[in-house]
Amino acid sequence: MTPMNMRPSVIFGVIVAALVLLQIDGRTQIPAFDILVRNGRVIDGSGNPWFVADVAIRGDMIAAVAPRLEPGAARVIDARGLVVAPGFIDVHSHSEAREDGQDIIGNPAAENNVRQGVTTIFASPDGGGSVEVGAYLAKVSAARPAINVGTFIGHGSVRGLVIGQANRPATPEELQRMRDVVRKGMQEGAFGLSTGLFYVPGNYAPLEEVIELARIAGEFGGIHQSHMRDETSRVLDSVSETIAIGEHGGLPTQVTHHKIIGKSNWGRSVETLRMIDEARARGVDATIDQYPYTASSTSIQGGLVPQWAQEGGRDRLLERLKDEGSRQKILSEVSKAIETDRGAGDPGNVVLAACNWDPSLAGKSLAQVLRDRSRPATVDQAADLVLEIVQRGGCSAIYHAISEDDLVRIMKHPVTMIASDASPGIPTFGKDVPHPRAYGTFARVLGVYVREKGVLTLEDAVRKMSALPAQRMGIVDRGVLRPGLKADLVVFDPATVTDRATFERPHQYAEGISAVLVNGQVVLEAGKLTGARGGKTLRKTESEKK
Ligand SMILES: [Zn+2]
Repeated sequence: MTPMNMRPSVIFGVIVAALVLLQIDGRTQIPAFDILVRNGRVIDGSGNPWFVADVAIRGDMIAAVAPRLEPGAARVIDARGLVVAPGFIDVHSHSEAREDGQDIIGNPAAENNVRQGVTTIFASPDGGGSVEVGAYLAKVSAARPAINVGTFIGHGSVRGLVIGQANRPATPEELQRMRDVVRKGMQEGAFGLSTGLFYVPGNYAPLEEVIELARIAGEFGGIHQSHMRDETSRVLDSVSETIAIGEHGGLPTQVTHHKIIGKSNWGRSVETLRMIDEARARGVDATIDQYPYTASSTSIQGGLVPQWAQEGGRDRLLERLKDEGSRQKILSEVSKAIETDRGAGDPGNVVLAACNWDPSLAGKSLAQVLRDRSRPATVDQAADLVLEIVQRGGCSAIYHAISEDDLVRIMKHPVTMIASDASPGIPTFGKDVPHPRAYGTFARVLGVYVREKGVLTLEDAVRKMSALPAQRMGIVDRGVLRPGLKADLVVFDPATVTDRATFERPHQYAEGISAVLVNGQVVLEAGKLTGARGGKTLRKTESEKK
């Protein structure tokens, strides 16, 4: 690399490193570095093998990565025998502002993220979150988060704002208004358009509408990230739709939390991955993210109730459930979903995670609730129970309907990155029985899929958590451990790093992560939170300028 084609951030890093050396030579009293992480095995995020080096930090930047750096008066973190890697980046985080406060604003310390080594998250996936991107980021900033936060703008929220919960295509005027909302969100710093075509109201949008709005995100250098219309029997159609959005919208496109739901569909990841490979071969920038669990989680209503029954919102759904004819139709579709879809044929596979109207149900499967009531644990009885749950206010649930073979196959694919689908403060620590991904995702990949099962090398796993998601989101100053970049770092023990959160006992933090730095501030040291809040809000518009 010559000075002519160096990135400004790299040039700045070289200048910083030069100044640092000058200070050592000049025997100044000012410490050359603020922090020195010594003797670690550096895994830089590129996928290259580890090497032993010190990592020096000055201010919020990595100043040097080299063996035997002079510590001066710097604060020293001993990393002998440990891995030093770029902080992990979570591109699917439900940290959008929530009414219940289970988000980054309500939980700015983000302990469940920090204890997995996560230093940057992206909010508003699945088509959700606020369309007021600037206002959201201002609120996050005011909450002084411990980690960096960027956001998508969600298609479902945009459609909800302009069209409401109606199941019909947009008029030309509505489409223009949606374009304007997406454009404003991108101007205010969103990193792309997220879609939740599985959910209401995103589900009511035809492909053409999504392409039109994705095109706007692409004009700003953003990406499209999709919770696909179907992850079960029509998963191939959905992957092809996700590819089409990228191909015709002219922007990178990503299958988010890629999984194959329902026993009769298991194995189809062979075909979905081949479709991604074929798309890439013809020039479509299609990628994948994934969480390392064989169960998914969403609301009972979202997961099992047909979308047509939800048109018009909750009141209309309740009216339909009171009408005997439509109730029977909904009941039979819910039965089918338990039989072949998220229930994988057994009401024991659907476990309630949180029910505000009866907290005692959390942790019980539909089969267990039926047995508690001396009812047979059949699929039809479970469907009837689901409708009762919806009528009484709903629950979130966990669905054990994914195969380990598909999970591993998807994880191994070179374009797959790791993302949690959880959030800071979701769940509130100790409350309910939520999906363990909130506590364990990144540590689980390192402990189970690198160390125990050997599915990934350590270097490749780190790449899928740092450089790959940074590249995907277009962040040029993070995701790689290199002088001149922001000092987001994680130090962990590859021999002990582990997720402790289980489906039965999810409220357990990951272990084996000993230090986490965010923008040069030590957020976790010797396994303890320091109280530092080094996080920044990230804007696509700003990262473009660097
Ligand atoms: Zn989703």
